[in-house]
Amino acid sequence: MNARVHIIGGGPAGLMAAEAAREAGAEVDLHDRLGSVGRKLLIAGKGGLNLTHSEPFECFVTRYGERRAQIEPWLRKFDADMLRAWAAGLGVDTFVGSSGRVFPRDLKAAPLLRAWVRRLRAQGVRFHVNQQWRGWNEDGTLAFATPAGDIDVRADATVLALGGASWPVLGSDGRWLPVLAARGIDIAPLRPSNCGFDIRWSAHFAQRHAGDPLKPVILHWSDHAGRAQQRQGECVITQYGIEGSLIYAFSAVLRDAIETRGQAHITLDLLPERRLADIEGALARAPGKRSLSERWRRSLGVAGVKAGLMREVLATESLHDAATVARTLKALPLSLLRPRPIEEAISSAGGVRLDMLDEGLMLRQLPGVFCAGEMLDWEAPTGGYLLNACLASGRLAGDAAARWRGGA
Ligand SMILES: Cc1cc2nc3c(=O)[nH]c(=O)nc-3n(C[C@H](O)[C@H](O)[C@H](O)COP(=O)(O)OP(=O)(O)OC[C@H]3O[C@@H](n4cnc5c(N)ncnc54)[C@H](O)[C@@H]3O)c2cc1C
Repeated sequence: MNARVHIIGGGPAGLMAAEAAREAGAEVDLHDRLGSVGRKLLIAGKGGLNLTHSEPFECFVTRYGERRAQIEPWLRKFDADMLRAWAAGLGVDTFVGSSGRVFPRDLKAAPLLRAWVRRLRAQGVRFHVNQQWRGWNEDGTLAFATPAGDIDVRADATVLALGGASWPVLGSDGRWLPVLAARGIDIAPLRPSNCGFDIRWSAHFAQRHAGDPLKPVILHWSDHAGRAQQRQGECVITQYGIEGSLIYAFSAVLRDAIETRGQAHITLDLLPERRLADIEGALARAPGKRSLSERWRRSLGVAGVKAGLMREVLATESLHDAATVARTLKALPLSLLRPRPIEEAISSAGGVRLDMLDEGLMLRQLPGVFCAGEMLDWEAPTGGYLLNACLASGRLAGDAAARWRGGA
């Protein structure tokens, strides 16, 4: 008889687990607490849906940092090329953007999700929405709360793909954590990843510049051992501090630095295209009769939020000192106080520790229970690395769940 696999969580990881389990011959039921599946995937579509990245596999796997060794085997079975072929199979052509990121040609998530759910239904996957998984009953059945009351479900194998704790309104609220912890599963605390940071702006600056983009700039950061890192990109000033892709790229190391040292200090090069000596020269040549703002704007193109930042960090008397101004334009110091709350983050770090799982992503302590996606303890920067690893882990867990106890 075919195994009966229940997948809990209808995000990318759960949907892919359903697909793989069905392909391996299992009877598949997918449950989600919300009224429809793939809500976070749809929101990701607002940013164009960055599905994966086109860089060589050897570079790709380094994006998972310390978890590379554990995640590489998932990705070998579902790498960026396989992901693109899979999307093409759903009628979604992809293209490589200028940064190497891969997107659907129409930059939308809805057509992909619609085609995917339609295909899964046609393959026989049964969808059950508005069913909140609450854990296990004493007899081992799965316990769900539904609008029509509680229901119990017996599964041969279960895949948990419950997501992390960012953007809980989209479904993943981290409430699975105490349920698994009570079963002795070791879970790293969920923390914000790809997140913004708080900075103590003056009320005047925040009011005037919240929402202003800052581009292009180079972010410089040195870790506790003095190892320097830098990257050019874009960020956005917020009411509370700073966010945006450049900040997200550093968010894991900055968050960890704040946890150990209380604060993280970065500098921003506001004029990446100009050398320090050029800036000093341009300032020296600017006619003294003009106002400071006019001199900065005409000689260097520094105005708006960049000028606002200079006034924010420099004392009034330093604003007239050309050497200090030039130095600060090349290395504007900012102190990051704390990451923004996990509810606002693009993704979560932490989750079920990978050494709790076997190579098919089954919890060693709970035979027949598999885990996939963002609820596992890994993190990666934006760039398509999140979705690719969620999908790859979903494939692995779904396939292994279907085969567990010789189900296929
Ligand atoms: C604004 C935004 C933009 C993003 N853009 C990108 C991008 O362009 N590229 C990229 O790679 N990544 C992006 N991400 C990250 C990516 O969307 C997530 O990493 C991915 O969706 C995680 O997949 P998942 O299946 O593990 O979890 P989720 O997508 O969070 O799905 C988990 C599912 O489980 C369900 N669930 C949770 N608890 C229960 C329960 N107790 N019972 C029943 N169901 C439950 C939820 O309702 C949800 O449907 C973005 C994220 C955000 C917030």
